[in-house]
This record gives sequence, structure tokens and C-alpha cells, in this order.
Amino acid sequence: MRRVFVLLLLALSGCGAAVERHVLVPAEAWAPSSPALRDKAETFRQVSRAVARAAGAECRRQTKGQNCDFVILVDLGPFSQPNAFQTLDEHGRPLVIFNQGMIGSARNGDEMAFVMGHEAAHHIMGHIARQIENAKEGARVFGELAKAQGEGPDEIERAQQLGAEVGMQSYAKAFELEADILGTVITNEAGYDPLKGMAYFSRIPDPGDRFLASHPPNARRVEVVLKTAADLGLVE
Ligand SMILES: [Zn+2]
Repeated sequence: MRRVFVLLLLALSGCGAAVERHVLVPAEAWAPSSPALRDKAETFRQVSRAVARAAGAECRRQTKGQNCDFVILVDLGPFSQPNAFQTLDEHGRPLVIFNQGMIGSARNGDEMAFVMGHEAAHHIMGHIARQIENAKEGARVFGELAKAQGEGPDEIERAQQLGAEVGMQSYAKAFELEADILGTVITNEAGYDPLKGMAYFSRIPDPGDRFLASHPPNARRVEVVLKTAADLGLVE
């Protein structure tokens, strides 16, 4: 567990793309030097243990043959906008990654647990694989339409790229809401309060109801969390 992960991420900044080198450490080994983060480090480690356990149990209940051994990592930089995401390592093991900006902006363990539970839920529901399928299907359909209209190879390729984009985006909002629902369950099972955790939504920019926005409006997300919390008996 002391191993340091290095991940290369393609970061789109402005009009150019730059490859950034990300150094990742397991939550247990993370020892920030800034006093503000040091105060939050112990809470973050506790949340990581509890959410990894709860998400693992939920994953084993809901899936067959899927790797449910969650690893929570901290991205040491470059320090940037608060961000958390999930991915898989080369063995298919689920990684949930928080950057230090994200940990710094979470007000308490409930908010950390809520975001972590949401990311773990994406893995349990197989959203990465489903996104890839949707992109392939979109590319195929748009490519065939372009071909049927007698377009040349360049136009067909452009159509396929657009189709992949549309295919990915078409379910993105639905996936976010699914992850909010299961994330609420995981947060609760980990011993944290999803209703306090979702206060995080009130501080992130609201994408509103734009067509093809990758995230649903915050109000819609609050609605599904409240409904799930009510189902769990957390609200009257
Ligand atoms: Zn998400």
C-alpha cells in the first residue's frame, strides 16, 4: 500500500491539450504539509476506510466477478480546481482519486463521504464500460448516416467523432443521477450523513439545464438524494 501511483492525464486547458504528470498516494500514506490540509487528513483517512468498506460490500452484493477492492488515492498535484474521479488500474482494480483541492474544499467528513460514495457508485454500475459502448454505438450510427448520404472519408470520420461525443453525452446525466442515488446509500452505510454531504452541491457551479451538459442541474440531483434518503428512512 506504500506504493506511489503515477498517472498521466490528458488535461484540456484553454485551446491546447497538455499531458500532466499526476503523483498519487494512498489515503493512508497521505501526509500534507499545509496546516489547513493537515487538519482534514485524519478525517479523510477515516472516511476512506469507511467508504471503501461500504462500497466494497455494496459492489459484491450488486455485481458478479467485478473487482470490488476499492483503493482511495490522493492526487498530490499540480494543485488545481477541486476534482474527484474514478478509474481502474491496469488490473481492473477500482481507484477513487481526490485531488488536494477537493479535500480542502470539503467542509466535513459527510461531504467527503458523499463525493467518494458517488465516485464508487460509478464503478459499481459499470459506467465507464457503458460510456465506451455508447460512444462506439454513436460513432457507428453517425458514420453510417454520413455514408448513406454519399459523404467522403473525411466527412464520415468527422461524423463518427461527433457521434461518439453525442453517444457519450446522451447518458451522462442519467449516469450522474444513478451515481447520486447509489452514492447516497453508500454514504449512509459508511456511517455518514448524505443529507449533510449533499450540501456540497450548493457550492459547486450549477450546470443548469443545458442540452448535452455532462452533469444534471444541481436541483435535480438534490431531488434524487432527498428521495433516496427518504426511502432509507433518513427523513420524515
Ligand atoms: Zn459523477
